[in-house]
Amino acid sequence: MLIVMTPTATDDDIRAVCARVAELGFTAHRIPGDAQPAVCITDNDGSVAEEKFCNMAGVADCVSITRPYKLVSREAKARSTIVDVDGVPVGDGSLAIIGGPCAIESREQAMAAAEVVAQSGARFFRGGAFKPRTSPYSFQGLKQKGLDILAEVRSQFDLRIVTEVKDVETLNDVAAVADVLQIGARNMQNYSLLEAAGRQRKPVLLKRGISATLQELFMSAEYLLSLGNYNVILCERGIRTFETMTRNTFDLSAVVMIKHHSHLPVIADPSHGVGIDWAVPPLARAAVVAGADGVMVETHPQPDEALSDGQQAMAPDVYLQLVEEMNALASACAPVRR
Ligand code: PEP
Ligand code: MN
Repeated sequence: MLIVMTPTATDDDIRAVCARVAELGFTAHRIPGDAQPAVCITDNDGSVAEEKFCNMAGVADCVSITRPYKLVSREAKARSTIVDVDGVPVGDGSLAIIGGPCAIESREQAMAAAEVVAQSGARFFRGGAFKPRTSPYSFQGLKQKGLDILAEVRSQFDLRIVTEVKDVETLNDVAAVADVLQIGARNMQNYSLLEAAGRQRKPVLLKRGISATLQELFMSAEYLLSLGNYNVILCERGIRTFETMTRNTFDLSAVVMIKHHSHLPVIADPSHGVGIDWAVPPLARAAVVAGADGVMVETHPQPDEALSDGQQAMAPDVYLQLVEEMNALASACAPVRR
């Protein structure tokens, strides 16, 4: 249940509501950043008796939340969440562009890629230091050395770093460098990792699992929010279907559904969605028009020599042109992107 407070409710009123929730043996969550203050109740097995709250000072309304995901839903928070990534907003109506290689391979490769991403005007640089690979014989990332290189990128360019955290053991090391912790598709239901990422406050980019429904994605995000980390960005990266001509099936409808059912920002990743370099630009442009809060794409200084995902990495000139096009589309669509 959601307890909506009046706009003039005092902090003491809200605290009293939270205390009453705790007395009943439930958990109270103060919803941040909505027009009206509100408290969401979780850990209740059945419905919560409204009369326990409706006469309390500062309470405007008690609304039941019908979805299994509570804090993530628009029912709990009507206003879209803006995630602040060290001063750069995601979800405020602007277009967040995250560019970079699949993996950090060397200092030279990372610097060359970062140069192109900075030149494009994008504010976010991506690159994995810890790579969860399907094959144990594939390149697993440079690990700590990759993080050191990302720290250098961060110090030389005005770019926020998005990089994957593969497990709980390395979370602190990755968080020391990352501005956004990426939880990859393979880890979307790694509940220990979600709990650890929920207990800290760095923004998290949560990617949709390879065969996850949107409800499963929301439930995974709920782990993060229920532990107090509201800095969550969702990511559509394609799902497995019967189709084999593309790497995955890029689900653009997910962008629309996520924006409708959740207040969290959503990023589209057509690179992993389709898996073919020349097919990325049209899908990236479509995601902008469909209302994605941002787009993540892979670019590599020399795609043919990439140690992972080279077939979907755009060459720098293609990437630079795509960013121009996406920015133009975002401006043209500004009235409908909010
Ligand atoms: C990636 O972003 O490089 C990646 C491994 O993505 P995903 O988890 O979506 O496969
Ligand atoms: Mn990749």
